[in-house]
Order: sequence, then C-alpha cells, then structure tokens
Amino acid sequence: MNEKIRCLIIGSGPAGYTAAIYASRANLEPVLYEGMEPGGQLTTTTEVENFPGYPEGITGPEMMEDLKKQATRFGSDVRSGRATAVDFSVRPFKVTIDNEKVIEADTVIISTGATAKYLGLDDEKKYAGQGVSACATCDGFFYRKKKVAVVGGGDTACEEATYLSGLAEKVYMIVRKPYLRASQIMQERVMNNPKIEILFEHNAVGLFGDKGVEGVHLVKRLGETDEERYDIAVDGFFLAIGHKPNTEIFKEQLELDEVGYINTEAPYTKTNVEGVFACGDVADPIYRQAVTAAGTGCRAAMDAERYLTEKGL
Ligand code: NDP
Repeated sequence: MNEKIRCLIIGSGPAGYTAAIYASRANLEPVLYEGMEPGGQLTTTTEVENFPGYPEGITGPEMMEDLKKQATRFGSDVRSGRATAVDFSVRPFKVTIDNEKVIEADTVIISTGATAKYLGLDDEKKYAGQGVSACATCDGFFYRKKKVAVVGGGDTACEEATYLSGLAEKVYMIVRKPYLRASQIMQERVMNNPKIEILFEHNAVGLFGDKGVEGVHLVKRLGETDEERYDIAVDGFFLAIGHKPNTEIFKEQLELDEVGYINTEAPYTKTNVEGVFACGDVADPIYRQAVTAAGTGCRAAMDAERYLTEKGL
C-alpha cells in the first residue's frame, strides 16, 4: 500500500533542510528524501565563510550535517532515496522513490538544486577542493593577491571575474569564442578592468600542480592551422560555464523557464501546480547562495502550511 503524508520534501541542500525544519515545527510531519547527493552542492565545497552565524566559518559537509540534525530534532523523517517520477495531475500527488515505492502527498516541496557544469577534464576531479571551484563568491576569498582563471564568456563568468578582481592580483578569463556572450554592460565592466585579461579563442585542456592547482594548459585556436599551446600560472581555476537545474523528472509536469529552472510566483514559492512549491537553486538562476536557498526553504514550508490550512488538509 502507498504511504500517505501531508508534506514531502525532495532534496537535501540548505533549502530542503530548512523547509524540513519549518515544516516539522509547524506539525506537517514532513518526509524528506535526500536524493543522489545528500547535502547537495555544499558537500563538495570546503570552507563556508559567508553563512551568517558562523564567525569562524564551517565546512560545507558539517553545515549540512547540522541542518539535518536540526530538521530531525523537530520530527522530520529524513530518508535516503531519490524521487524518480512524479504525478502532479492527481490529488494527493504521487511521487515514486527509487523506481519502487510510491508516496502520496498533499503538498510537495521541490529542493533538488542545480549542478554546476564542468568541462569534463579529469584534472577538474583531481584538483576538486584544491584550486578548482564553480563558485567565486564561495571560494574567492582564498585567492587574495593570487592569480586565478575563470572559464566562460557569459554573464556569470563576467560577474565572477569582476568579483574576483576585487580580491586577486590578476584574473584571466578563458573564452572559447572570439567574443563574449554576456550583456553589454558586463562586457564593458570586464574589458575596462585592468586586473582582468581576456583570452579569447582559448580552451583549457588540463591543469597542473604538485600541491593543488598551479597552472592551466591552454590551447589557442584549437584545431586551426595556427593552433598554439602554452601554459599560464594560476592558483585558482573557476568554472562559470552555466548550471543545470535538476528538473528532469518535473519537465512534463511543471512550468520551467527556457533553461529548465522551475518558475515560481515570486515572492511566493508556488509553482503553476497548486500545492507544489519550489525553493533553492532549482528555482533560482541568479543568487545561488546557501543563505538565499535556506531563506526560500523557509518560505516554501510556510507556503505549504498555509495551503494545507486553506484546504483543510
Ligand atoms: P551562459 O549559458 O549565458 O554562458 C555560458 C558561457 O560558458 C558561454 O560563454 C559559453 O561559451 C561558455 N561555455 C559553455 N560550455 C563551455 C565549454 N564546454 N567550454 C568552454 N566554454 C563553455 O551561462 P551563464 O551562467 O553565464 O548565465 C546563465 C543565465 O543567467 C544567462 O541568461 C545570463 O544572462 C543570466 N545571468 C544574469 C546575471 C545578471 O544579470 N547579473 C548574472 C549571471 C547570470 P559560448 O558562448 O561559446 O557558448
């Protein structure tokens, strides 16, 4: 027989755990499935220094463990397992876990996050947490007065390069095309910044270093007759080539934007299906911070609670 609950939370980053804390304290008896990567993107970072309340910083995995404890303390049922299918056309909603078990839920809070895109180089894995990062706001501070490279030519790359230029001594932008894709204002900002050097028509093909990243292997005009290979010395290698929201299983059921982020009715976390809410990076192409994710997780739980009360569920 299917299990029937009032509030199901899918995903376990700061958004999901915060939603669980609020939902359990509101007596919604939430069940949270942790998904493929329990704790989410923060478990792949090292030190988190920008989350308010931790003056000395905290590691990403520790913070997620604390949030999980806080959620279970108030009665959230945190389980391992991944939602593999959803049916939002029926009430209660049906969510399949690990292709087997079906949960029936009056409300669903989606907090499945987004995944930063990487180039796919083996060296990105080799130097993970040792100079390779996909978040300048999170890790830029470690590169004060050092040299860094940012890969990408979109708005994110320009924004990250500009942010890093306030900390680092020198910022290279590695752009595969002969032009930037970013908006005009962002392009001007990086072009006019004396600390930023844009390497157009360049591809990063590898990293090197004995103790963490010490440099990048570059190819200029890859595949052309005048192709040129050389190395630059950097201490940090930042990817800014886009994020992929984890919305594969929702795409036939919910309204998404052109990239795949879930559309919500700001300032609420309501999706286009009444009773289904989205919070954290899965619905946020702009801020993508732990603290903003936690904030929307709180809102989602409050929205779910109000919905259940209104419907008398
Ligand atoms: P984009 O998709 O806009 O840009 C990605 C960049 O990465 C492009 O320059 C692309 O190159 C490059 N890239 C992609 N794959 C590779 C690869 N394998 N190797 C090398 N380079 C690669 O992503 P963003 O994250 O920059 O932006 C996403 C959306 O969010 C956009 O709509 C953007 O405008 C918006 N945004 C707005 C901001 C703001 O307004 N303040 C801030 C940040 C984002 P190519 O051009 O060759 O495809």
